[in-house]
Amino acid sequence: MKERIKTMGQQAGRRSWAEPWKIKMVEPIRMTSKEERIKAMEKAGYNTFLLPSADVYIDLLTDSGTSAMSDRQWAGMMLGDEAYAGSVNFYHLESTIRDVYGFQHLIPTHQGRGAEHLMSQTQIKKGQYVPGNMYFTTTKLHQELAGGIFVDVIIDEAHDPNSEHPFKGNMDIAKIDKIVKEHGADSIAYLSVAGTVNMAGGQPVSMQNIKELREYADKHGILIYLDATRLVENAYFIKEREEGYKDKPVAEILKEFAGYSDGAWMSGKKDHLVNIGGWVAVNDADVADKLRNLVVVYEGLHTYGGMAGRDMEAMAIGIKESIQDDYIRARVGQVQYLWELLDNWNIPIVRPYGGHAVFLDAKAFYPHIPQDEFPAQTLAAELYLDSGVRAMERGVVSAGRDPKTGKHKYPKLELVRLTIPRRVYTEAHMDVVAEAVKEVYEDAKNVKGLKMVYEPAYLRFFQAKFERL
Ligand SMILES: *Cc1c(COP(=O)(O)O)cnc(C)c1O
Repeated sequence: MKERIKTMGQQAGRRSWAEPWKIKMVEPIRMTSKEERIKAMEKAGYNTFLLPSADVYIDLLTDSGTSAMSDRQWAGMMLGDEAYAGSVNFYHLESTIRDVYGFQHLIPTHQGRGAEHLMSQTQIKKGQYVPGNMYFTTTKLHQELAGGIFVDVIIDEAHDPNSEHPFKGNMDIAKIDKIVKEHGADSIAYLSVAGTVNMAGGQPVSMQNIKELREYADKHGILIYLDATRLVENAYFIKEREEGYKDKPVAEILKEFAGYSDGAWMSGKKDHLVNIGGWVAVNDADVADKLRNLVVVYEGLHTYGGMAGRDMEAMAIGIKESIQDDYIRARVGQVQYLWELLDNWNIPIVRPYGGHAVFLDAKAFYPHIPQDEFPAQTLAAELYLDSGVRAMERGVVSAGRDPKTGKHKYPKLELVRLTIPRRVYTEAHMDVVAEAVKEVYEDAKNVKGLKMVYEPAYLRFFQAKFERL
């Protein structure tokens, strides 16, 4: 008798769940030929950021600004109040942030890095330390441009792709305390806490950790600011993995977590289910004043900060959609699905699964390629050449150079990120991606590394060019 194929739920010994939406509009995509892909990759200098999207089949470059908006959000776009000052949509967004995150003062920005810029310029004095849970590219750069010294204080487990620690995003208080003991609490601008931690594999921070951080910070008079970009996903992991939260709605967990901080910056292009936008929000009125003084210089008036009224409306609606339990379960559930497929085939990936992406361990794919021949950059190129799937390097290219020595920084993790856009692809797309990764893994021995032939001064991973060795 033929063996019946089991559904995903049956394989896991439970009833299946499905996405809490159906598809109303589609965007056709096209598979290219191998010859076309070779040409496109050479032209792009082996950098997936430089590929035209028309040459891409399944685009897992990023989950940033790639979400599918709902019919409600599109309807909200028609309610845009494009008044220069005091747009209706600004007040809707402000009340939504107060309601969902609990922050009192909202300053909109054009996207996350605009918010990071304002926060860094107003909150960091030259020479101050900024302890954070692993660096994020734009966050760290803005902190450094403001004269801050970024220090990675994430727990050691985060640097080990095989550690099964459920909260690899946690901050190590002993590492913070070392800075405080050596240089005094005044030497710290603020604690920079990201949930989830992108560069560690989309790994969450536990509620217990943020509570302990709050206690420590209060004792020493230090502020805590969150990178809230994927905090809804972080809240979902707390529900799934931390004792005492199983029966709490994600919305409640999110608000509790944010409540242990003094404010946050946000890239709305991620959790908020919109294509553009961001904000910075704080509880302290004086800090808010400083931010408002600066937003008019770099972004726009404090009631739009670089966003159109219609974009603020879509964001306000998206925020409410993003904190629905069945939505966030399906969102992270899709990441989990791809992760489990690859794990079943023993493909080296970062463990456990994170919130927005599956990370391939390029060092384990290509043990014969040294880090200065860019194994993760190579793997992202190979994946595209095999199947038109676009992924992103998160390794030595992303880490950049040490500003003092001018040498490459060699991060322990050399990863390729398969980032899943929200509400965009189906399970069948995930199957195609998994099969492509398997194929590339099986061919790994035959692959050579790359050399960099063009290197931009800032955030080099976006525009660097390479040639095959
Ligand atoms: C994307 C991102 C940012 C920067 O936001 P942009 O909207 O891309 O400018 C900051 N922090 C994290 C964790 C991000 O993922």
